[in-house]
Amino acid sequence: MNNTILITGTSSGLGRATAKHFHAQGWNVIATMRTPEHETEFSQIERVLVTRLDVQDPSSIQSAVDAGLAKFGRIDVLINNAGYGAYGPLEATPFEKIQRQFDVNVLGLLATTQALLPHFRQNRKGTIVNISSVGGRLTFPLGTLYHGTKFAVEGLSEALHYELSPLGIQVKIIEPGGIKTDFGGRSFDFSNDPQLPEYQPFVEAVLDVLGPMMAAGSSPEHIAEIVYAATTDGTDQLRYEAGEDAVQLLASRRAADDATFFAGIKAQLGLGA
Ligand code: NAP
Repeated sequence: MNNTILITGTSSGLGRATAKHFHAQGWNVIATMRTPEHETEFSQIERVLVTRLDVQDPSSIQSAVDAGLAKFGRIDVLINNAGYGAYGPLEATPFEKIQRQFDVNVLGLLATTQALLPHFRQNRKGTIVNISSVGGRLTFPLGTLYHGTKFAVEGLSEALHYELSPLGIQVKIIEPGGIKTDFGGRSFDFSNDPQLPEYQPFVEAVLDVLGPMMAAGSSPEHIAEIVYAATTDGTDQLRYEAGEDAVQLLASRRAADDATFFAGIKAQLGLGA
């Protein structure tokens, strides 16, 4: 029997590349997305089930799990990939955007994990891979919400691994740096209010640096290889830094105390202390 993954957010980017990579290694893939009716490529491929899963819609999560089990009989790995970035000054961000950021990146990830746990617990086997970010270990200005969610993903994953490893269920955290996806376009939800002039120099400085930084980085295919290696390495390693930039950034974060690191970020943005 082939191994099977269920992955969220496969309409684009890292989720799509990861689905393809696992499939190429012989796995069955439950490729979930919000709008499967738009999918043309995956629906033609054997051993791929395309099904709807919106992490903000609990009934769609359960239906996707049920459909995956009905087709493949077992799910071995869950990859919580769906996510996006809400950025901008907190004061300029409507509360609904705050709520949606945490709903998708945190509550949706927890709900999807909960939906798989009974199956993994019964099998005494399963792997949960949470796509975090270097932004779950360090922060950039105007990323209050995004970093809040990715720090949450780090903390919840770390705590969860204690209670699941005795049941034979592994938890893995992937920490990519920049990935060349459309994250900076479709998944970048920036709030600003020009009526708040105090923030505007800050907004300009951050956008000047953030755009090119997101556009650089690794290909989604490269990060997908790291996700696959982490999932299948047979170890209980929790964290995986993904991409050259991630390794460098996290090393420089570890090497500096808070004050030194924050001063470096401010200097890079041309901002005063
Ligand atoms: P992407 O191409 O924009 O993909 C984001 C995916 O999330 C899309 O498939 C999107 O689906 C899906 N999604 C959004 N809301 C959803 C919801 N409510 N339910 C289900 N799916 C939903 O960006 P990406 O770079 O591949 O991002 C994938 C993951 O990598 C995210 O968790 C992100 O935080 C993380 N990451 C990205 C970078 C980067 O530089 N790109 C760096 C570190 C970490 P729709 O097509 O329906 O919108």
